[in-house]
Amino acid sequence: MTVPSIAPDTVGLRGLRFDNRFTRELPADPSDVVRPRQVIGAAYSRVSPTPTAGPALIAYSPEVAEKVGVDERALQSPAFTAVFSGNAVVSGMDPHAACYGGHQFGNWAGQLGDGRAITLGEVIGPHGTHHTLQLKGAGPTPYSRGADGRAVLRSSVREFLCSEAMHHLGVPTTRALSLCSTGDQVVRDMFYDGRPEPEPGAVVCRVAPSFIRFGNFQLFAARDDLDGLRALLDHTIRHHFTELLPAASEPTADTYVALLHEVVDRTAEMVVHWQRVGFVHGVMNTDNMSIHGLTIDYGPYGWLEGYDPNWTPNTTDAAGRRYRFGQQPTIAHWNLVQLANALHLVVGAVEPLQEALDSFVPAFETRWFAMMAAKLGLRTLDPAGDEAFLGSLFDALGATETDMTLFFRGLADVDGSHDDADALLAPVRAAYYRPEELVGDVHHRVVDWLRAYGARVRDEATADDARRTAMHAVNPRYVLRNYLAQLAIDDATAGDATTLVELLDTLRCPYTDQPGREHFAEKRPEWARNRPGCSMLSCSS
Ligand code: AMP
Ligand code: MG
Repeated sequence: MTVPSIAPDTVGLRGLRFDNRFTRELPADPSDVVRPRQVIGAAYSRVSPTPTAGPALIAYSPEVAEKVGVDERALQSPAFTAVFSGNAVVSGMDPHAACYGGHQFGNWAGQLGDGRAITLGEVIGPHGTHHTLQLKGAGPTPYSRGADGRAVLRSSVREFLCSEAMHHLGVPTTRALSLCSTGDQVVRDMFYDGRPEPEPGAVVCRVAPSFIRFGNFQLFAARDDLDGLRALLDHTIRHHFTELLPAASEPTADTYVALLHEVVDRTAEMVVHWQRVGFVHGVMNTDNMSIHGLTIDYGPYGWLEGYDPNWTPNTTDAAGRRYRFGQQPTIAHWNLVQLANALHLVVGAVEPLQEALDSFVPAFETRWFAMMAAKLGLRTLDPAGDEAFLGSLFDALGATETDMTLFFRGLADVDGSHDDADALLAPVRAAYYRPEELVGDVHHRVVDWLRAYGARVRDEATADDARRTAMHAVNPRYVLRNYLAQLAIDDATAGDATTLVELLDTLRCPYTDQPGREHFAEKRPEWARNRPGCSMLSCSS
């Protein structure tokens, strides 16, 4: 079925001004055959979304709509739903799927590509900035391999909510404009146990400067396609890293090295934010790493509830735990090494690339110590001198199951002038999943650390109010707890988007106490401990 085209001046779409730099400047796949195949010498394949039975708008982000030039009234128009569920295109769009490769779980996987993402094009927003609009779940592409190009409602709700939650937490991320149901069923084997079930399908429209990944560069390099690699690098630098371009001239090998430096820096920054808020990406394959240093591809991600550096939400990764919380910085660095390997083909020399890679550890550590100091409400932390202080903090957090979010939020109310164990514990007591375990040695470890912390706070002599305000600005009250996303999914599946919309609204101000919304700040209830979707997720989405 071909997708209908509607006039760009239709109500709902008038604000969209397209300027498709990616498809205009980069080599296109000459074939329009939509079946799984290797696409050589091209950055993308043109492909239209496949229409669905009964599209309906479930939710949207008003701020993202404003950014891309859709006014809020237009969001309610049939044309908006048609376009953003993949049931119509507007002239000016240039729908396509990108060709990229990647390392999956540490192994080179060859060509992957947008198997269920179709980029509609780039719009120039009302503020003059370009934004790329991409549908996820809008049907097959030449990169769909054996799969259907669709996405289920549960994974689409998770992507929609989490990208917005991350943005409001101050974490670099792709955004989400809209979430539509398709009216079609999608069959998934959610538990990989040989019992596939039909589930409702959905389409998310996500928004980013571009969706260029490490893997786009890697695939050109793996195929020895120097022209393709250079074209993609030059495009990326010219439009997205303009500040790196030598004055009025072409990018050179030095510019490519400067790009790596910048990507190293941005990636370090992104991962420090993940560690700050307790986010575990779950599938840090190199095809899921944005060249912009944005969090991208929300799949089996999760949020730390009990603090545990070994935790991964991804059941597919349960054996090796490659993508566990505590290993995210190391994996980010490993992924950057793969990007550097790709750039080597056009840079020639190893040394400058190595130098850029070597800047990761200091870039990460400097920010990480500053971030931890901010979380603790302290002026600074000294990497050498504070090793024992931080070590005993993490020891205390691991002594008994301790909710990371509630602990750090509560810490703002710890009074450094107290010595009494109960008084010190009172502000963080709500963080404990098993308060009965706070006895004996566990009690000592926690209280000893709180005493050490109190002493530090006294030494720094920051006024309690000032410390609390500063700590509340970096320690969120509300995060997208795994079970909250699942509650929103349960209701949305039953046709009721109220929880989803209320949750989204709460997560817009994650650092502000919101009276009446305490239930969104509570630690995970016991029923959710082992419920699928709440504590463990597969890649089946
Ligand atoms: P991910 O790990 O979700 O980022 O996906 C890895 C690769 O599999 C990418 O190339 C995706 O486009 C592709 N893929 C995942 N799910 C589907 C699907 N339902 N249909 C087609 N391709 C898919
Ligand atoms: Mg991906």
